Amino acid sequence: MIPNHDFLRHTLDNPAGLSPCQFQLDNGVQVQVWDTGVICFEPKQPAEKDIVLACGVHGNETAPIEICAELIQDILQQRLVPAHRTLVLIANPAAINAGSREVEENLNRLFSGYHSKGAGLINNERKRAQVLEQFVSRFYQQAPAGSRKRYLYDLHTAIRGSRFEKFAVYPFLHDKAWQQNQLEFLRACGVSTVLLMQTAAPTFSYYASNTHGADAFTVELGKVRPFGQNDMRRFADARNSLRALVAGQPVATQAFDEKDFHLYEVYRSIHKQTQDFKLHFADDVENFTTYPVGTLLATDGDTEYRVEKEGEALIFPNAKVAVGQRAMLMVIPRSVQGQLA
Ligand SMILES: [Zn+2]
Repeated sequence: MIPNHDFLRHTLDNPAGLSPCQFQLDNGVQVQVWDTGVICFEPKQPAEKDIVLACGVHGNETAPIEICAELIQDILQQRLVPAHRTLVLIANPAAINAGSREVEENLNRLFSGYHSKGAGLINNERKRAQVLEQFVSRFYQQAPAGSRKRYLYDLHTAIRGSRFEKFAVYPFLHDKAWQQNQLEFLRACGVSTVLLMQTAAPTFSYYASNTHGADAFTVELGKVRPFGQNDMRRFADARNSLRALVAGQPVATQAFDEKDFHLYEVYRSIHKQTQDFKLHFADDVENFTTYPVGTLLATDGDTEYRVEKEGEALIFPNAKVAVGQRAMLMVIPRSVQGQLA
């Protein structure tokens, strides 16, 4: 049903869609293929977690795709036995086949209904965002009755290097408390830099968090490289922790201590106002780079943007965005002392 138990290959061979099918493994795990890149595992006696792992939202971010493909294959070959219901999403097969971040539009800006706004469902990324939302809803809603815990980890790698190789985006919780156990889990994945958002976003992780009450994160695991060129040792902590999570085995976490983390919040978002927008630092500057207060960061016509705060760091700079779009995010360190649940 899945040739060679290789669901990634099967997905990439059928980027436009796959007929749903289901079968049971000898160990009792129920396998359901819902669509291309969408596979659900349900143990006979599922424990309390409903776990969604997403990769390939950006098609050229290969390391997370390799981690998820291996996890799927190992479950299908019964080398890894899930203890929890697990939905794995290879999010954008067409972009993976194209070796590009996106085919027409950034998939991670289309969730929470943004796929249908403006011009509507005009391209495959918009349609895919809509069906991914439907699959996530179905997965959480089909869970057994009782007290459940929902998770979604959307795994990425970044275009540029980063002063902190791995980092996570914690979506805006609308004044709910951040989860200490989630920060501890992220650190076990090798992620100790966390950006705490204070506004809604059209991302997959915000969608899962806000719509479904999941503990959800966008996790940046390192720098983009082509398939086969990832040094998988650099991803070992994330790989092993995610597999342990799915298998219901202990994850090697350590008690939360803020000193072990770099925690940031958004200080300001700089939008491109004119075609003259220009960044005043090298193209290959790393995410989380800081400069002294007063340093000129960007100009936009007559407007100058300078570092305003001690420790202010830049992330995701991109002068090539369309006018009106975000060209850079400026973040500052913050504490979560006394604000964790
Ligand atoms: Zn990405």
